[in-house]
Amino acid sequence: MLFTLPQQSSDTGLRERFHRRSLEHQRPLSTVTMAFTVVAFLCVVAARGLADGPAAPLVYRLGCAFVLALLVLAIPHAKSTWTFGAIGVAFSLALLGGVALNVAGVQQPLLWTLPAMVVIPVCAAPLWLTPTHFFVGSALFYAAAIPMLLGAQRTADVDIVVWMWIAAVGMPTSVVFHFGFYSFRRNHYLLENQLAQLAATDPLTGLQNRRAFVAQAERRLADVAHGAPVSAIFVDIDNFKSLNDRFGHAVGDLALHQVAQVLMEGTGASESVSRIGGEEFAVLLCDGLAGALRLAERLRGAIAAIERPDGNLTASFGVAEHRSGESIMVLLDRADEALLRAKHSGRNRVCAERPLPDAPLQLLIEDACGVDGAASSRHRWEDYYLTSHFQPLFSLSHQKQVGFEALLRGELDDGTLLPPAVLFAPKPSGDEGVLDRASHAVHLANARRSLPAGDWLFLNILPATFVAEGYAGQLAAIVRRVGLAPEQVILEILESRGGSVDEMSRVATSYREHGFLIAVDDFGAGQSNLDRLLRIRPDIVKLDGELIRATGHGTGQPILPKLVSLLHQAGMLVVVEGVETTEELILAVESNVDFAQGYLLGRPAAEIAPPGSVHLRIDDAFDVIAQGRAHQHALFESEVEPYRSALREAADALRSGVDMDRAFALVATFERCISCFILDDAGRQVGHEVQGPAGLTEGASLHPVANPRDARWDHRPYYRNAVLLPGVAIASNPYLSLASGRPCIAVTLALQFADERWVIGVELDWSAHGLPWPAGE
Ligand code: GH3
Ligand code: MG
Ligand code: MG
Repeated sequence: MLFTLPQQSSDTGLRERFHRRSLEHQRPLSTVTMAFTVVAFLCVVAARGLADGPAAPLVYRLGCAFVLALLVLAIPHAKSTWTFGAIGVAFSLALLGGVALNVAGVQQPLLWTLPAMVVIPVCAAPLWLTPTHFFVGSALFYAAAIPMLLGAQRTADVDIVVWMWIAAVGMPTSVVFHFGFYSFRRNHYLLENQLAQLAATDPLTGLQNRRAFVAQAERRLADVAHGAPVSAIFVDIDNFKSLNDRFGHAVGDLALHQVAQVLMEGTGASESVSRIGGEEFAVLLCDGLAGALRLAERLRGAIAAIERPDGNLTASFGVAEHRSGESIMVLLDRADEALLRAKHSGRNRVCAERPLPDAPLQLLIEDACGVDGAASSRHRWEDYYLTSHFQPLFSLSHQKQVGFEALLRGELDDGTLLPPAVLFAPKPSGDEGVLDRASHAVHLANARRSLPAGDWLFLNILPATFVAEGYAGQLAAIVRRVGLAPEQVILEILESRGGSVDEMSRVATSYREHGFLIAVDDFGAGQSNLDRLLRIRPDIVKLDGELIRATGHGTGQPILPKLVSLLHQAGMLVVVEGVETTEELILAVESNVDFAQGYLLGRPAAEIAPPGSVHLRIDDAFDVIAQGRAHQHALFESEVEPYRSALREAADALRSGVDMDRAFALVATFERCISCFILDDAGRQVGHEVQGPAGLTEGASLHPVANPRDARWDHRPYYRNAVLLPGVAIASNPYLSLASGRPCIAVTLALQFADERWVIGVELDWSAHGLPWPAGE
């Protein structure tokens, strides 16, 4: 605002300020004058001692001098003009009383009193601060003095003399003295004001100049309550020199004037606006960084609407918040540094000061998660905005959307997205945990407005943030502030360095106590191994997207179902990420994964959209699998059937006493046969094994365990299942052959002789590509 001009203020305001200023001016003069009066009074006391007649006791008269001296001492302490006036009235009445005491008993009292009654009001007149004080003080003085004069013995001549001195000399002189001084002081005050205003104002724009701004800002910084926010905005018009150079200084001056108008109109009475230099302006406001950034953004928009002959005027802004103990110059320097960055990053923009590690986080949390919630889904962070994109997760069995993973995005002023490499670029001095925490506040604030009731919100969290002291409580508080429950939030611990597994498993308990669920992200990638999983014991495991692709493009042997089965047995639900194709979705369903996420089901988006027809897609996957499973089963059976029937024939032959080479002769010619064997009650091999064609091609890589005669096999499912169903040829699930290191299946059959039980079997090589694998775990 303009430095307050006296002419603009109301008369009352002006008079009051003038009277207060008069108090300061008059104080020394009044003190000296009144002190002199006390000395004069003591002279009267002494003179009275020389005169005849019975005098009042000396102690009373000196007591009066003492009272007068006390009143003189009170003058430097008078805070208001009214106290000052009251002291004046008390002083003149005490003086009168003192005169009356001294005069008592003299022969010609009028000779003593008349000069005092004329001189006292004349001398006191200039000391009254205001006409009111003057009239009231003088009226009280004369009201006490005149009866004193009239009480003395008089003649007609004396009466005339008394009234002449009082009415014709004393009163008019005091009026002239008082109003003369009063008007002199007033003119002086107005002139002083005018000079101060000229010294403080920039003549071109009418704004405060730099000196006045700095002085006012220093006063303001000294006055603000401890911790009350103050911020500075530094403004510099863009490409102003070209305006001057191309269109002349008059056009430049007009632009400066217009910008000043915009700044004045855009700010309130509590904000100071100044033209700091050529085309640079500054604003000081009592608000924090977030508020100052909002104001700067408004002012930027308003300036950008000013036209210049070759387009529109624009300005760049730097904003900084005052830090405790910092001078105005340091604050302006920091705002200036931010302004420079605004210039370097393209002009016509607002840049905030470089943040202290934690301060902007608190600001952001306040701004985003405060009681009313932020008006926008994007939140200022350094030179850009943070915002959330949400990607849906689906329950495969329920075929419905169950939650969203929040993903952080950085946005520039004009809405373009910041590349993730820039957003997540490691900062030289920065603490990456701050951005992580900021992302949580942003996501929670945004989820408040759009998360469907009852859905989960998945938040990514760095291990270092996860184990940070007290973060569980802080996060729970933010979650509650935005109106969500911790039970709705699943924390995905990222696969990243930082935070020991021991610490993570310890603090996981405190997150659980707050109600959060815990997930481990990217299982199967980088640092994320089984040990980490089993120690943190998350509620949910998110499988790295590559796992599903590795399975899809690998050997064709389904590893994923086994992995999921393992995780289920450990009590963890499984999410598969990065599902992009129908084949991957089918594999996820087939693997008994609980939840899936990926572009096929829904891309990350700023707005949470209804799930649409995704459930149909999942349903189709179920159908495909149901059909596929029947088909696989039929294929498997047809592949295995010849071995079953040949084994049954071998069993009959053995029962009728044929030796094992002849009994197994047929089945040992079949293509996939590795070997035929007989196991006794304890699962140990009886006799030798009969080699088949597939056995002859075996490598010797597992040489130490290659001889089956060294082992017992009664723990194998193919042994146990055969014993459960004697006489039935059982086909096993594929397993890894210890002899060959290749996948095999076994067809087995339990035979009961009179006193002995045998399990006879044939091991088949199942490593060839395209062989059907039976479903099931
Ligand atoms: P940038 O976008 O980097 O700020 O470029 P700029 O041209 O605005 O900045 P520069 O500092 O190079 O130029 C500022 C110009 O402002 C130079 C000076 O001639 C002009 N100027 C300073 N005071 C006044 C003034 O009172 N009236 C006019 N018309 N021009 C002024
Ligand atoms: Mg400049
Ligand atoms: Mg400029």
